[in-house]
Formats: sequence, C-alpha cells, structure tokens
Amino acid sequence: MKIVATKDELESLLGPQRAKGNSIGFVPTMGALHKGHISLVNLSIAENDITVCSIFVNPTQFNDPADLKRYPRPVDSDRQMLENAGCDILFIPSIEEMYLDNDYTLLNEDFGILDKVMEGQSRPGHFAGMITIVNKLFNAVKPHKAYFGNKDFQQLTIVKYFVKKHNLPLTIRECPISRDDDGLAMSSRNRLLSPEERKAATLIPNTLFSVKKTWGTAKISDLKKFVLDEFAKEPILKLDYFEVVNFDTLISVTEPILPEMPIIACIATFAGKIRLIDNIRLQ
Ligand code: AMP
Repeated sequence: MKIVATKDELESLLGPQRAKGNSIGFVPTMGALHKGHISLVNLSIAENDITVCSIFVNPTQFNDPADLKRYPRPVDSDRQMLENAGCDILFIPSIEEMYLDNDYTLLNEDFGILDKVMEGQSRPGHFAGMITIVNKLFNAVKPHKAYFGNKDFQQLTIVKYFVKKHNLPLTIRECPISRDDDGLAMSSRNRLLSPEERKAATLIPNTLFSVKKTWGTAKISDLKKFVLDEFAKEPILKLDYFEVVNFDTLISVTEPILPEMPIIACIATFAGKIRLIDNIRLQ
C-alpha cells in the first residue's frame, strides 16, 4: 500500500492509472478504523482496479471543539488494517493540504430540509463542513465510485443529492451498517465509551429492532412513546431524537402510511459526552 500526504503525490499515482483506463474506488474516512470501514474498502476492492482510502479528521464538520479534540487517531493500527485489507493507496493529508492558506470557507449549498432536520438540527454547520471536505476529496481523488455507509444515513442522502445536483462524474455506492455481535452499530466513537456506557448502548439497536418488529401494527405516535419510555428507563443514555422519516426526502412520516413509501427510523443518543447514531429501514 502506498501512503501519500499531498494531492500532487496522489495524482502522480492515480494519473497513470486513469490513463490506462483503470477504475478508481474511493473510501473517505476520519480514521479510527473498524470492520465497518473495512467492509467499504472490501467492496471497493471487489468493484475497482484501484482502491484509495483517505483518513482526514475534518475540523470544519465538528460543531463541538471538545468532540474534535477527543476524536481517536490511532494512525498505526489504521494503516495496518488497510494494508491487511489490500487497500492500494492511503491518502492522509494535513489540515493545511486540504484548507490551503487556512481558508476554511465552506460550500454554501442549498439542501432544502435535508441538512436541517435530525443531525442538522442537533449539529449546526456539520453538513456544510462535511460536504466541503467530501467535495475537496472528490476533486483530489476523482474516483469512479465512492463508498459511503448507511450508518451515516443523512450524510449519505446529502452526498447523493450533491452528486446528482452537480452531475459529478462518479457513482455513490451505499453500504450496509456493520454491527457488533450484540447489535451496536460499529463506530469510531464506541472506543470512547466506558464499559457501562458500552453495555447500555445496546439499548439503541434493541429499540430499533423492536420498532421494526411492531412496524405495520403500531401507530407512529405509539412507537415514539415506546422509544421515549425505553430511554427514560436507562439513565446512562440520553435520547437526542427518534424520527420516522421518508427515506428520500427526510420529511417526517405521518399516518396514513402508504405501503409504497420508503421509510426509515433514525435515532441519536448521548452516552455521557459521546454521541451515537443509528437507523433501521422500516419499509
Ligand atoms: P467516518 O470515519 O465515521 O467518517 O466513516 C467513514 C465512512 O464509513 C462513512 O461512509 C460511514 O458511514 C462509514 N461507516 C462508519 N461506520 C460504519 C458501520 N458501522 N457500517 C458501515 N459503514 C460505516
């Protein structure tokens, strides 16, 4: 695996590959890699001639400076995991490389309600920072396909919208959520949880699985009450939101529920200072 830190070095490796007609798959990450990230890398390797993974903890998408400071950065084990997976190129730029001359100007995109509900409401500015860095990374890598996890469902929705709106010449591949054996969605932030918090966090997937089980027989208001009651019983976790939304538009779903409507339930909670998100497709 080649490791590069600048866009020029990256292009010197990728230019000849593009000229040969080889396809480039790209997996953008913030590092602290786990099997969920590696599942994206594996899919890219299966579908492309060359796979590039980036590790960049993007300062502009953190609305909480303490969250940015505590974000884990285990660079050596990340490198090893990517090497073992068979990734071809690791792009690990500095902040200066991505924000030249300390210019932190963000893209000013209109996403309608897509960046205003759920995570958008709880993390102001997060999606402007996210789409700015994703766009910069797309410009640097110029991939044929880019791989995003459904774990960050709202992020994926916004990236798909952006790519479509600007006719960007790449395909977004949506990847399923990887979960630990007890159901908790894998996340770089899980390693920041205390053993008690980690144990309590299983309530998140368990609640989503219960919601899915009763979907079709219970009213949405009853489901919301059920989720609120479940979290009220667990003092270690604080529910931020639970929403049932249209999968494409992110508009809140109300009764009557049309059978053809794509629907997803999304949840965000705090375990102490650590924010955890998850979701489940309902229909
Ligand atoms: P992050 O490093 O958290 O920015 O995530 C990088 C990419 O990995 C994003 O597209 C995430 O959605 C994806 N990802 C993170 N966790 C998981 C997971 N448990 N399963 C699948 N994809 C994931």
